[in-house]
Amino acid sequence: MNARAEKLVEKLEEPLIVTTPANVRYLTGFVSSNVSAVVEPERVRLFTDFRYAGAARAVPDVEFVETRRETIAHLAESLSGKFGFESTHLTYRAYEELRDGGLELVPRAGLVESLRAVKDEDELEKIRRAAAITDRAYERIAEERFVGRTERELAWRMTELFHELGADEEAFDTIVAAGANGARPHADPGDRVIERGTTIVVDAGAVLDGYCSDCTRTFATGELPDELRRAYDVCLEAQLKGLEAARSGAEAKQTDAAAREVIEEAGFGQNFGHGLGHGVGIDVHEAPHVASTSTDSLVANNVVTIEPGIYLEGTGGIRIEDLVIITNGEPEVVSSFAKELMTVS
Ligand code: ZN
Ligand code: ZN
Repeated sequence: MNARAEKLVEKLEEPLIVTTPANVRYLTGFVSSNVSAVVEPERVRLFTDFRYAGAARAVPDVEFVETRRETIAHLAESLSGKFGFESTHLTYRAYEELRDGGLELVPRAGLVESLRAVKDEDELEKIRRAAAITDRAYERIAEERFVGRTERELAWRMTELFHELGADEEAFDTIVAAGANGARPHADPGDRVIERGTTIVVDAGAVLDGYCSDCTRTFATGELPDELRRAYDVCLEAQLKGLEAARSGAEAKQTDAAAREVIEEAGFGQNFGHGLGHGVGIDVHEAPHVASTSTDSLVANNVVTIEPGIYLEGTGGIRIEDLVIITNGEPEVVSSFAKELMTVS
C-alpha cells in the first residue's frame, strides 16, 4: 500500500469504495473513466474492465481485479458487508445496485479530497511547471494584436499556444471576455470583435502530467473609461491584500474577507459576486474553497487561486488571478506574468 492510501486508511471508519476518477488517480496513479478502487486497512483493490487491464496490472501496490464493463455490478456481486461510498459522486442508480447486492452503505464525502488539498513536493513541482507554461502563453498572446480579432479567435490562440508550449491539454475552456461581455465572470468566448478602449479578461490554464494551472489577466485595448480604470486599480489592490492574507493557519473566509473589504470600501462590493479562490490540483476546482461561506482553513502546501473580480454591467469586467502555494509565511506565487495593467494593441 502506498503512502497516500495509508493516510486515507487512517481516516476510515469502514472500507471505502472510491469511484471518483480523480480520487482513484490520486490514490493509485491509475487513470480511467471506468474504475473503482476499494480501500481497506490491508489492501487496495482496483476494479476495471478489459480495455484498461494492461495498464491496471502495471499499477504498483494494488490488487487488480478485471471486471465486466459494469464495474459497479461486479462490486455488488463480489463485496459483502459495510462500505463507505463517495456520496458526491456515486449515482443513485449505482447506489441502488450496490444496496440491492446486499452491501451496507455509509455515505462519505471529502475523505480523499481533503488529502488531495495538501500537495506533496512532486505535485507542487508539476503545478509549478503547468503554471510556467501558462505564464509563457500569456507572454506570447500579449505580443499579439487583440483589436479587430474575435474573442473566439483569441481563445483558440491560447489553446494553440498551450499545445506549442508542451501542455498536455487545457485545464478548462479558455475564457476571453471583451468589453461588456467581461462583466460575466464565466462568459463563453463569442464572435464579438474586440474594440479599442476596453478591457479583455483572459482566464486560462494548462494541464501538465495530470496537474492543472489557472491564471487570469485583464488587458486594456487603449485608454479605459475612468470607472474601469479605477476598478482595475481596486481589483489589483484587493488581489494583493488577498495574497497577504493567504497563509497557513488562516481561515479561508478571512482570506476572502481581506480582499473583499478593499472592493467594498471602494464602492464595488455589489460587483464582486463570487468567492476569492479555489484549490487547484488534479482538478481545476478542488479543496480548499476560499470564499465567505467556506469552513476550510488554509494549511501549508495547499494550492489555491486568489482571484478577485469587479464586474460592471454593460461596461466591462476586471479579474486578476494568481495561483499560489500556501506556506507558513508569504505564499509562493507561481503565476509570474505581470499584473500591472497592460495595454495591448
Ligand atoms: Zn481561472
Ligand atoms: Zn480560478
